[in-house]
Amino acid sequence: MPDSLRVALLGCGVVGTQVARLLTEQADELRQRVGARLDLVGVAVRRLDAPREGVDASLLTTDAEELVTRADVVVEVMGGIEPARGLLLRAIEHGASVVTANKALLAADGPSIYAAADERGVDVYFEAAVAGAIPIVRPVRESLAGDHVQRVLGIVNGTTNYVLDKMASEGLDLEQAVKEAQALGYAEADPTADVEGYDAAAKAAILASLAFHTRVSIDDVAREGITGVTADDVRWAESTGHVVKLLAIAERNDNDGSPGVQVRVHPALVPADHPLAGVRGAYNAVFVEAEAAGQLMFYGRGAGGAPTASAVLGDVVSAARHRVLGGRGPVESSYADLPVLAPEAAVTRFQIRLEVVDRPGVLAQVATTLARHAVSIEAVRQVSTVDDPASTAHLLITTHVATEGALRATVAAVSELDVVKDVVSVLRVEGS
Ligand code: NAP
Repeated sequence: MPDSLRVALLGCGVVGTQVARLLTEQADELRQRVGARLDLVGVAVRRLDAPREGVDASLLTTDAEELVTRADVVVEVMGGIEPARGLLLRAIEHGASVVTANKALLAADGPSIYAAADERGVDVYFEAAVAGAIPIVRPVRESLAGDHVQRVLGIVNGTTNYVLDKMASEGLDLEQAVKEAQALGYAEADPTADVEGYDAAAKAAILASLAFHTRVSIDDVAREGITGVTADDVRWAESTGHVVKLLAIAERNDNDGSPGVQVRVHPALVPADHPLAGVRGAYNAVFVEAEAAGQLMFYGRGAGGAPTASAVLGDVVSAARHRVLGGRGPVESSYADLPVLAPEAAVTRFQIRLEVVDRPGVLAQVATTLARHAVSIEAVRQVSTVDDPASTAHLLITTHVATEGALRATVAAVSELDVVKDVVSVLRVEGS
């Protein structure tokens, strides 16, 4: 058995600095847990002269290509697709186990990393790639390995959850809430990856792959961000007992006897008494429904240097233990190979808000149009605008479950009706 293992760190930013700190501060405990000393042998960065608190400057290098050839465990926390992918493949080729927090890379091209690791017989761990500190990859991949996951609903992007929460609690509009998130460091100067749902889509792809033993890439995920959500939507949601959340959804869909996987990211109305509705601020949570286990929820910090480093270190310990004791951890499993279904096939309930002419018979016309498209109404609420010379009323229609395709066709037909002045919003209702 080796006395020590060599650990190489690729990247020393928000997460990497904390990984380096924990490796040093907890060296004794890590040694006991692993059964060998973990020696940090190098830290690859772009800029050698940037200040990095608590990191031994003599370990810094700009030669990541060389560093990965002299390590037993390589930790990639640099982000982006290249050079991260090339470096991980090179590390694996040289026999190292790898740990990565890189959701973008795994959602774009995880299978090439998993295949290389299989061939070389080394581990690939990526707990930090989904929902930061929250243990969710291991529970789905290992704890639920004897069950059938049916659905995963996740709040996996803290920035958008913070923004929507501020809109609800303080009545801010989207732009104001994003500015506040930026001022507090929750949102990047360019918040596109978060507010347009790209970050959540990458995590949805990873979760769907794990939950359904099927390869799902970010290109398979139907994605809609929160930029269309207005302060009005959030107020109306509250008035009907809901909160608006950006959800990453992966579900098995057995419609028509041919199973498939549906993976999507979009804002949704969540009933106020659903556990996900209570996830406030920049927190994350993943709600899993499994056949035998029932409902499970995993909650915690989805980002931040130390929380993410906690998940990374857990992976380092697992990979290192295998180096000491022999064997490998669980590998990627894609045996089910389910088709990823088109977004139109998604089945959910909808809330449609219309501005209509305020006169008798209008509701009947709208209801008939929905019925013609086989979309049935669960509830309708009509609010007339008092003293409105234009005689406008608001209709809030909640539907029973319908396919996304049927709903889109319905909305297009409803918007053509003379009595309909505007289709103000269409939001999906999830978690009920
Ligand atoms: P970051 O603060 O931007 O740090 C990136 C680090 O990688 C920097 O030290 C940078 O070097 C180094 N780097 C980038 N490109 C490089 C290259 N070509 N060669 C050598 N070094 C390079 O990023 P982060 O926030 O720590 O995130 C790292 C990874 O963790 C990403 O995949 C991210 O998605 C994931 N993650 C982050 C969080 C979080 O809360 N931040 C949460 C979950 C997952 P310089 O310092 O010299 O520029």
